[in-house]
Amino acid sequence: MVQSEKNCALIDPGANGRKLWKLIPEKSLQLNLILLTHGHLDHIASAHYLQRKSQAPVFLHPRDIKNRWRWLGISFAKFTPVENGQTISFGSFTFKVFHTPGHSPGSVSYLLEDQLFCGDLLFADGVGRWDIPGGSFRALVKSLKQTLAPFPDRTKIFPGHGPATTLGIERERNPLLRG
Ligand SMILES: [Zn+2]
Repeated sequence: MVQSEKNCALIDPGANGRKLWKLIPEKSLQLNLILLTHGHLDHIASAHYLQRKSQAPVFLHPRDIKNRWRWLGISFAKFTPVENGQTISFGSFTFKVFHTPGHSPGSVSYLLEDQLFCGDLLFADGVGRWDIPGGSFRALVKSLKQTLAPFPDRTKIFPGHGPATTLGIERERNPLLRG
């Protein structure tokens, strides 16, 4: 959750949609934006529910928009496609979108100032799986080495799973980012 005064944005609301929705008024916030880093169920499961409740736009890359979760009541019909280089403004903040495929074809990372919300591209001491349908090792390495190359070491990394890290730390110890 990212806040700007009373506005808030949720990134990858997976489980616990009802709990998240209860938290919004408890903290006197308004949910204005839902950003999805990719279309896997553990990252999107609550997005449709929260969109219905809040009317907030939900952003997802079109290459990850699939209808296979329809049986769970998740519809992508109202999701807004994002593209590489796009900016999404919210309160006094602006997220910049980077297409970072590899874990899935439509994986994106959202940059907010020096904070990168990268989904399952990069973890502390690891990277996302590429050996699943739609995954590509070559695309993952390209996203890590080329797309992230201009980002400074101080960039804070907020992965889809596990603790936060920085790009500098990962460049030192992460086998796929070293060298
Ligand atoms: Zn995933």
